[in-house]
Amino acid sequence: KPLVLSASKLGISKSSINPKALSILKALNKAKYDAYLVGGCVRDLLLGYEPKDFDIATNAHPEQIKAVLPSTRIIGRRFRLAHVHFGREYYEVATFRAPHDSSDDGQVGKEGRIIHDNVYGTIEEDAVRRDFAINALFYDVHNDQVLDFAGGMDDLEKRQLRLIGDPETRYREDPVRMLRAMRFAGKLGLSIEAESEAPIRELAPLLENIAPARLFDEVLKLFHSGQAKSVLELLREYRLFHSLFPLTEKALQQDDDGYFQALINDSLENTDNRINDGLSVTPAFLFAVMLWKPMRQVEAAYREDSYPDPQCMQLAANDVLSSQVRNTAVPRRFSNVTREIWLLQSRFSQKNFRRATQFVENRRFRAAFDFLCLRSIAEQNKELQADAAWWEEFQKVDAERQLEMSKAVP
Ligand code: ATP
Ligand code: MG
Repeated sequence: KPLVLSASKLGISKSSINPKALSILKALNKAKYDAYLVGGCVRDLLLGYEPKDFDIATNAHPEQIKAVLPSTRIIGRRFRLAHVHFGREYYEVATFRAPHDSSDDGQVGKEGRIIHDNVYGTIEEDAVRRDFAINALFYDVHNDQVLDFAGGMDDLEKRQLRLIGDPETRYREDPVRMLRAMRFAGKLGLSIEAESEAPIRELAPLLENIAPARLFDEVLKLFHSGQAKSVLELLREYRLFHSLFPLTEKALQQDDDGYFQALINDSLENTDNRINDGLSVTPAFLFAVMLWKPMRQVEAAYREDSYPDPQCMQLAANDVLSSQVRNTAVPRRFSNVTREIWLLQSRFSQKNFRRATQFVENRRFRAAFDFLCLRSIAEQNKELQADAAWWEEFQKVDAERQLEMSKAVP
């Protein structure tokens, strides 16, 4: 039934695969189980990208996997997954499952969403319950074969994303698939096939039913994909952005001078470059950027209500962050840093020697400074640009010169 292709003719081979993942496949095969690489890694290999992780699918049940690979830990309750450990590192080995499940689980609910399920299935069933055809390719490394149950190879050739089955049904089952479409389209530079694209705008509000914790995870995948700028454009074009960042969407629509759009664009470009250079990024920064203008507007309102000046930003930060967590559950360890980045902005105008040297030692100085630089450019603010230049130099020079710099400030 599937299209069977020679992997080596497709230009992929054992050598591009993580040796630990290979050893898992080998052990399962040796015990007479079927085992395949599946999902994102096969897609990425075929597109010529380096896979992020190597997921494995097999007809062996979790206990059977554990019997073959004793370092296995079985996780999950409804649908059990095997994690094969190599010390702290592990690979996910999933038993083929029947359709009608998602990362939440279960039967189709009133919005058409799946709420519960735990049945193992055949490889064919496992293929068609996946989201996009290009994500449903199975790579049998030892037989050098790629199995295509859903026309994924054809789509890869056309560089398109197409849902398996009826698009509206599949989006209703799991609205997060709409976000995944944006991510893969943006990150891999694929077009969304017409029928898969058609229902998105109308179904976008279904994202409101998704758990904020799951949406937070998706936001990170979207904006730390290395193509955040295109992903944002797609999200806005398909009206999906509102469900993730309602305050940001509103502020962007009122952004007459274009400063906020510029701040977001410059920041995302910066993030994309960092990710593509293998540097670290923090979610705190993303939220600091996305919520900056909404926070400033609330801050201005408090000021107008004659709240004491130092409190206004603090109150605004609390309001905006507690509103945001209703859409995307930002963990405190990140939102606390977001708040710090904001509150530290006022310290860049304080340049006396003692304050300034202390500030440079602050563990959030770097993030706050990066944020200042982005603001100064986006807002085309000469004063902020002068501050940015001053601090840029101040961090680098020795104490003697720092003292001179501080004294020279009017
Ligand atoms: P990435 O490179 O970002 O990891 P991926 O395609 O591997 O992309 P994962 O979230 O790791 O994405 O999921 C692995 C596979 O599981 C997917 O390729 C797809 O086949 C399937 N899958 C994941 N999420 C869903 C979903 N919401 N609905 C249906 N299938 C899904
Ligand atoms: Mg993956």
